Amino acid sequence: MALLEIHDVTVAYGMVEALHAITMQIQEGTITSIIGSNGAGKTTIINAISAMVPYKGSIQFDGKQLPLKSNQVVRKGIVQVPEGRKVFAGLTVEENLLVGAYTITDRKQLPQLLARQYALFPRLKERKDQDAGTLSGGEQQMLVICRALMGGPRLLMLDEPSLGLAPIIVREVFETIKQIKESGTTILLVEQNANKSLCMSDYGYVIENGRVILEGKGLALLSDSKVAEAYLGGK
Ligand code: ATP
Repeated sequence: MALLEIHDVTVAYGMVEALHAITMQIQEGTITSIIGSNGAGKTTIINAISAMVPYKGSIQFDGKQLPLKSNQVVRKGIVQVPEGRKVFAGLTVEENLLVGAYTITDRKQLPQLLARQYALFPRLKERKDQDAGTLSGGEQQMLVICRALMGGPRLLMLDEPSLGLAPIIVREVFETIKQIKESGTTILLVEQNANKSLCMSDYGYVIENGRVILEGKGLALLSDSKVAEAYLGGK
């Protein structure tokens, strides 16, 4: 059984249908990528899982129907990192991380959770007392990922983590995503950088106009001529 099973999910914004009967599976312990062009519906899939938008169809997590309230979805262990690196600019790095731990009732766990994030990305430790708004773009991206990890999610959903970052920083972000998978967290990755994301994904889905048009193992998709033509600059 897959960790997350999306079955026939349809989302409409008013009269306009953005997703048409999407079916996808995410296996535990894997990285699954969703690729597709602007407006294809990638963010809408994440928002449906998070119960940020209403949907028809079924989304099951660990064999059970997901709740339809976003705060309850978070408590099931599904956390979303939205596009755009929204740090709390006036709070310090460490305060930002602590905000991410709001579901942790046993506060004694906090030092260990902080230590885990600082081990994942040591630059955050060096800057823990600095206002988050003064971090570089790449550091802010790492901070929002680490903030999401503070609640110990089972499924981490990342929306365009590489957007607008310099290539060397993109490499660092993707390396960190791999490490997060290795430490046991399942990852759903939405990316326009199809090449990089498929390279490290166990499985991928290609979305066009709200439909899954292709799916398969990451490396198999990378060598698919349709994917190459549409998303990899016609290699
Ligand atoms: P991008 O890569 O540009 O973020 P995406 O693949 O994530 O695109 P979505 O953001 O899921 O695409 O959008 C899918 C479609 O739904 C688009 O046509 C978009 O204009 C529309 N849409 C998204 N959010 C809303 C909304 N709140 N109200 C109305 N239409 C919306």
